[in-house]
Amino acid sequence: MKKTTGTDRTITSRWRPATQAVRGGTWRSEHGETSEALFLTSGYTYDDAQTVADRFAGNAQGMTYSRLQNPTVGMLEERIALMEGAEACRAQASGMAAMTTALLCQLQAGDHVVAARAAFGSCRWLVDNLLPKFGIATTVVDSAVNEQWDAAIRPETKVFFFETPANPTLDVVDLEYVCGLAKAHGITTVVDNAFASSALQKPMDFGADVVAYSATKLMDGQGRVLAGAVCGSQEWIDEVLLPFQRNTGPNCAPFNAWVVLKGLETLELRAMRQSENAVALGRFIEPRVPEIRHPGLPSHPSHALAMKQMRATGPIFAFDVGSRSKAFALLDALELIDLSNNIGDARSLMCHPASTTHAGMSEEARAEMGVTEGLLRINVGLEDVEDVKEDLDRALKAAGF
Ligand SMILES: *Cc1c(COP(=O)(O)O)cnc(C)c1O
Repeated sequence: MKKTTGTDRTITSRWRPATQAVRGGTWRSEHGETSEALFLTSGYTYDDAQTVADRFAGNAQGMTYSRLQNPTVGMLEERIALMEGAEACRAQASGMAAMTTALLCQLQAGDHVVAARAAFGSCRWLVDNLLPKFGIATTVVDSAVNEQWDAAIRPETKVFFFETPANPTLDVVDLEYVCGLAKAHGITTVVDNAFASSALQKPMDFGADVVAYSATKLMDGQGRVLAGAVCGSQEWIDEVLLPFQRNTGPNCAPFNAWVVLKGLETLELRAMRQSENAVALGRFIEPRVPEIRHPGLPSHPSHALAMKQMRATGPIFAFDVGSRSKAFALLDALELIDLSNNIGDARSLMCHPASTTHAGMSEEARAEMGVTEGLLRINVGLEDVEDVKEDLDRALKAAGF
């Protein structure tokens, strides 16, 4: 009997998440390779003209061009969809390609978007600069305050767009409340789940319509490639997302898709261990610094909510040392932890958001979202957490703590 690969949903949807992460979406060629094949091809050939015509007419299965389909990218899309519990997924060139595509494919002039004010810098740029340029009105709200979402709704509101936990302030959105509110008003929720990944949080279980990813972060997990993904219902992907994507081309390259496929095999292990390390490190520095924002610690205002809607709170947290000069002194004293603005990596990395990821925003917008001059963000990696503690201990002392 032929072994099942990962392409039959009637079988793969019954698998538990760890099995889906290793085998979901696997499609084997006639060579029977164990590891997923990398199809570096832009085009496809056909046996006869009628086959081509049938494929282009949508009457026959098969590939036609890698902006439309690619076997390696297709494997990644199926695996991400399974792990997310989504009907469908389309991979994108980067996280920002995913966010831009997820928003623009469904919006038009005259529509209104409500977005979280605490967000990744480029996500805020979409809301503050790109959408208004095309006649799409936007309102930003304090995403942790449920009533602000209620109050921002207008008759023409089409989309709610937010991250939880948010980059870099770690604001937590009440998924059940906000997704429920959107549903009651016919509004589509687009959740950027990059900080958590499906291993730690499944927004669709709380009613989210669309989940969008930077796969550059935890999914790759080893800081190698840029990639993104958008998940939704089959109908939404086919009828709303695909017409936009097929004609604008924000597609994920097959090589990048292949790297992320291999990353997904270890996603859960990494996300859980990095979350544990992040809580241990947060506890270690909490008594030493003026302020810490870590959803895994009881001092976080939304700690209980985070514990309810997340399996673990992830590798990233932020803390405030009071001023830019102290923040820089601390960063410059690090020996092990790299000074780097990436996250989700197996290496511990730290950055100063106000001068890096959020430098492109106005000072008022930074102040409003809580990106202060003394704020530092850390991605806690897979090193022995005792070594990371020793490094931070030395750096805190160097900065006067
Ligand atoms: C990094 C990040 C993005 C952008 O992803 P890229 O892959 O760098 O384009 C979007 N949202 C969040 C929350 C991120 O952390």
